[in-house]
Amino acid sequence: MIVKIMMALGLVLFGFYLGYFILMRHKAKGWKPLHASGDFTPSVSIVVPTYNEEDMIIHKLKNLMEQDYPSNEVEVIVIDSASEDGTVELLVRFIKDIRGLKLRLIRESERKGKASALNNVLKHCSGEIVIITDVDATWEKDTLKKIVLNFSNPNVGAVTGRQILLNPDQSLATKVEKTYRSVFEVLRLGESSLDSTPIFNGPLMAFRLDLLEPISEDSIADDSQLAVKIRKKGFKSVYDPCAVFYECAPSSFESRFIQKVRRGQGLIQLFFREREVLFNSSYKKFGTIIFPAEFFMHVVSPVLVFAFSIQFLYSLFMVNPYVFVNLAIASGVFFIVLTLMKLDIIGFFSSFLDSQFVLLVSLVYYASGKSQHKWMKISEVRELWKKENQMTRDL
Ligand code: GDP
Ligand code: MN
Repeated sequence: MIVKIMMALGLVLFGFYLGYFILMRHKAKGWKPLHASGDFTPSVSIVVPTYNEEDMIIHKLKNLMEQDYPSNEVEVIVIDSASEDGTVELLVRFIKDIRGLKLRLIRESERKGKASALNNVLKHCSGEIVIITDVDATWEKDTLKKIVLNFSNPNVGAVTGRQILLNPDQSLATKVEKTYRSVFEVLRLGESSLDSTPIFNGPLMAFRLDLLEPISEDSIADDSQLAVKIRKKGFKSVYDPCAVFYECAPSSFESRFIQKVRRGQGLIQLFFREREVLFNSSYKKFGTIIFPAEFFMHVVSPVLVFAFSIQFLYSLFMVNPYVFVNLAIASGVFFIVLTLMKLDIIGFFSSFLDSQFVLLVSLVYYASGKSQHKWMKISEVRELWKKENQMTRDL
């Protein structure tokens, strides 16, 4: 009996992932930009939320100043939530000395979290397009231009960019992240091509100001919450692989785990809150295919994978030749299919198990009611910059 349930579970999971991945890969191959090329430079407000960012904030602002975009159309607003380090002093000094960039600092007297800070800053934004970007994300010169160009299409309401890892081979943890990212990219691109993606990259995203509304103050996945809200208003929320930003991944499994569980918890919170989108045909393919698939991957599948793993281990210990033969056949099929799809089997599989495990823990966290909307900074990913800055200072 147990063996039959296990086989059925395995089949459902394998069938679902294979089917969705093949569909998305097909759609991703057919991806085309939603806009014509050309000049499109509406006014923009770039929002930079900060909490204890003394290591990187100046690097970030200098990077923003190097954008290839008409400077009279750009304003930068830093919203700081009561940083306890030197962030504010650095900013005040920088603003005093700076020429050629409209730069403002808004200070909150208390830290309520990033979502709350983003809600607060909206009333200060005057650009037609609002770009939100993290301090630890560095842009290319043309990133702003490229992300904004999407809005020349009136149906586009929200856009997110592509992350390029600065340290893909630094450690085993960053290698796992690299594989995860390659799958992430296919899914985001496929979903954007099919309709819209509910999952955004927080370090770089852009919205039409007139579509933005306050989000829940306890939101942990502010990025994806905004994306889903805008899709619900009938506009597209898409991923643009041409607009890139650079970021470091945590190099230790410990930091990675902390960051991933928090992000996982944020997505689970979002999928539960927005469950009315599930199979809702008024949202077209976003409601009938994409949202249900992502809901399954983040909420249902981790529990099924866990049940499957327990049963798998149990069957192994039963030492039943029938079970062994079946398992051997199933694993054979699994490996052949992945090889045929030209996937790095070990990387793919370990990254899958890693993300499902993280989501299972996130589910437990979510169920326990502990919110992480005021999260711990991962210093590791900022150390690379600290080192580089030290080097230039030493010169
Ligand atoms: P991670 O990349 O998911 O690990 O998140 P980060 O710790 O890098 O945070 C993303 C951005 O949000 C960074 O620019 C942080 O400085 C900023 N941030 C985090 N918490 C707060 C907060 O409570 N208030 C404000 N204003 N910004 C915050
Ligand atoms: Mn970050």
